[in-house]
Amino acid sequence: MANPEKTAKETLETAGVTEAPVNVELVAEKMGCKVMFQTLKSDLSGLLVNKPGNCLIGVNSNQSKTRQRFTIAHELGHLVLQHKGDMFVDGTVLRRDENSGRAIDPQEIAANQFAAALLMPSDWVYEKLAENRKQSPNGSAEEMTTALAAQFEVSPQAMGIRLANLGCLIPD
Ligand SMILES: [Zn+2]
Repeated sequence: MANPEKTAKETLETAGVTEAPVNVELVAEKMGCKVMFQTLKSDLSGLLVNKPGNCLIGVNSNQSKTRQRFTIAHELGHLVLQHKGDMFVDGTVLRRDENSGRAIDPQEIAANQFAAALLMPSDWVYEKLAENRKQSPNGSAEEMTTALAAQFEVSPQAMGIRLANLGCLIPD
């Protein structure tokens, strides 16, 4: 199975995107996928239709901008990681473990990993974190996370998870 982290890196290179915030719509376009913003049911984040010669990502425009960016990146993950199926529908409650609320489907986990790596490439996060630390050496972990989230145009929650996964969360 394709490594989501590595594939995300290659995808950015292919799309010619070299800095944050990642223009995720442009990346989708370069991958041959049209992005449409639409009012979807409140429990839906987005969907991917992947048919020969017709690739479409639908995004719920009622959700926050950062959420929409993550949704596009997640749907792109299904495409680029060559997941089986020609239609993926992603909701806020669908296909999640009832107890932990986390995705349990391996394809969903991989698509989320891809999305995080596409929007928050590890090298760029390390760089920005080092810069931010230089500028405000006394910043709290929360302040650092918020600043990085703004720089990468992701939610502070998504950045918090990414930092923890990269092992560079600064405890307060
Ligand atoms: Zn999905």
